[in-house]
Amino acid sequence: MTGRVAVVGSANVDLVVDVPRQPHGGETLLGGDVRRSPGGKGANQAVAASLAGGAETTFVGAFGVDDGAEFLLASLTKAGVRTDLVSRVDSATGTAFIMVSPDGENSIVVAPGANSRLQLGEEQLERIASADVVLAQLEVPLEAVTAAAAARRSGARMVLNAAPSRPLPDLDLDVLVVNEHEAADLAGTPGSPEELARILQQRAPAVVITLGAAGCVVAEAEIAHLPGFRVSPVDTTGAGDTFCGVLAAVLAEGRPLREAAERAGAAAALAVTRPGAQSAVPTAAEVAEFAE
Ligand code: ATP
Repeated sequence: MTGRVAVVGSANVDLVVDVPRQPHGGETLLGGDVRRSPGGKGANQAVAASLAGGAETTFVGAFGVDDGAEFLLASLTKAGVRTDLVSRVDSATGTAFIMVSPDGENSIVVAPGANSRLQLGEEQLERIASADVVLAQLEVPLEAVTAAAAARRSGARMVLNAAPSRPLPDLDLDVLVVNEHEAADLAGTPGSPEELARILQQRAPAVVITLGAAGCVVAEAEIAHLPGFRVSPVDTTGAGDTFCGVLAAVLAEGRPLREAAERAGAAAALAVTRPGAQSAVPTAAEVAEFAE
């Protein structure tokens, strides 16, 4: 069975340049050639839900009227994501400026632009209401996330990837997904993943804490630690996004959370063996073969 997923979130053009070292304030450095890649948590997760999760996926976001928007639309469309409800606003498409130095350090400046102007209109709310799973992150206005949660049909599930960390109001959630750092931030205390998951269950009945190579912890009535798949990582960018997109897709098929987290872990492990974010997302067939 194919499920329907609506992803409400951000999309950014990532502009990456290699620099000999990170510049000091006021300094001008010469870097290498600029590389452009499609990114933003919402768009990355939509690509993963569609391509690796096999879900009928709609991306609900805001773009400007510029070349960056066309670039992002092309990547979403190539992955089979529906983009008919992307709104166009009078602001530049979100852009991330990323400087990578040989020591492996990254400096990133995000200009959210159109992402911060996302508002959900009637058509978008209708599509959200027809989804089996609504998936959101925190790179768009909280009002949009709240409206999406309120618009879901009864029986549909609201999954929030509470990233990046920011204060969160009370939201009507079914599943909360965070990494270890976000879990500690949101819980307001350090602790083991199991302890943090129990605290965060005050926010959502089900909580998933991702643990990088160590896999994840899934907390419902019971808590289970699902170990990570063993791979040789090449680039971990977008591991979390691949995980969230596939988790939502499998839940949309009506499968249990634990099974969704297993398949999400397999897809994310495959993604870390490839460079890039959206370009690293495997197909559903590759995930099935890998997880056997
Ligand atoms: P990122 O910000 O790098 O996208 P994240 O911090 O949101 O990631 P992680 O916990 O690092 O999220 O990774 C998400 C999931 O991806 C993990 O739960 C795991 O299933 C998978 N994963 C990440 N890194 C590895 C790895 N080195 N080997 C195998 N699986 C991995």
